[in-house]
Amino acid sequence: MLNSDLTQQIRDKARELLESKAAECVIGYETGSDGAIARPAFIYSPDGVERLVFDDTCTHNLASYLVNRKGKATAVVLKACDARSLNVLLQEKQVARDKVYAIGVACDGIRQAVWGRPKGELQDRCKACQGHTPPIYDVLIGQPTSPDPPAPSDFSRVAEMEAKTPEERLAFWQRQFARCIRCYACRQICFGCYCQECFVERLDPEWTGIRVAPAQNQMYHIIRAFHLAGRCIACDECQRACPVDIPLSLLNRKLEEETLEMFGHRSGLSAEAQAPMATFRPEELE
Ligand code: SF4
Ligand code: SF4
Ligand code: SF4
Repeated sequence: MLNSDLTQQIRDKARELLESKAAECVIGYETGSDGAIARPAFIYSPDGVERLVFDDTCTHNLASYLVNRKGKATAVVLKACDARSLNVLLQEKQVARDKVYAIGVACDGIRQAVWGRPKGELQDRCKACQGHTPPIYDVLIGQPTSPDPPAPSDFSRVAEMEAKTPEERLAFWQRQFARCIRCYACRQICFGCYCQECFVERLDPEWTGIRVAPAQNQMYHIIRAFHLAGRCIACDECQRACPVDIPLSLLNRKLEEETLEMFGHRSGLSAEAQAPMATFRPEELE
């Protein structure tokens, strides 16, 4: 349902930024053609701000588009979970802070939708969300919640999986990855997958074959999961984008849990924290 108050505040801020030329482009949401999922909107002139909306269908992480606008003054609407990915992009020097104007939104949650049909229920990430206020913003739209860091993700499904034997776990993932059609929607939707040439498409050196086949699929998913370790912000967008419902979030949560246990690190809570894979502490040798 459209949140008229948040929508109006976003439109007002977007108009102000475009009129003053503080931003060349405002990336926000507009109503999708199916009405079930809002779609990303790129607004370049004040006349276009009336297209912007904010409601419980605004699922996309718009920070994903910032890497393609390097060096151009860009304003972007960010929910709390999405704002964590801006922090990761800043840590990784993929965007310059002075070129990004973050319109943070304290959101109440996004609803599930399957193939253009709203399901009514909140998304899993939103059911577990305890930090509705973005950790980074230039202006906050909506009421701030507790300043404490949000609680870690729910790892109960990881625990269920770990209760199985290694053979059962291997069989489970082999079954899942065998269904993958290598469409790469999971990669394309992820803010953290920004390499111009993904390892999976490199021919020299060839890391894995491009065939849609169980062993190659498995290699793609294992390496992608490692590339997101300590960086994934648990938005679940890769799983939502998957046309064959592979439970990618389960794999992501496992690596999130490991990163928390081994390094005490949670991704994207601040732009200054160093990601564990990008640094080294001598005591790690012990
Ligand atoms: S996880 Fe939290 S911040 Fe993200 S969309 Fe859901 S309620 Fe909003
Ligand atoms: S949940 Fe998926 S899409 Fe979101 S950051 Fe993690 S790997 Fe990327
Ligand atoms: S979105 Fe699903 S089917 Fe497509 S590559 Fe990713 S896991 Fe495979």
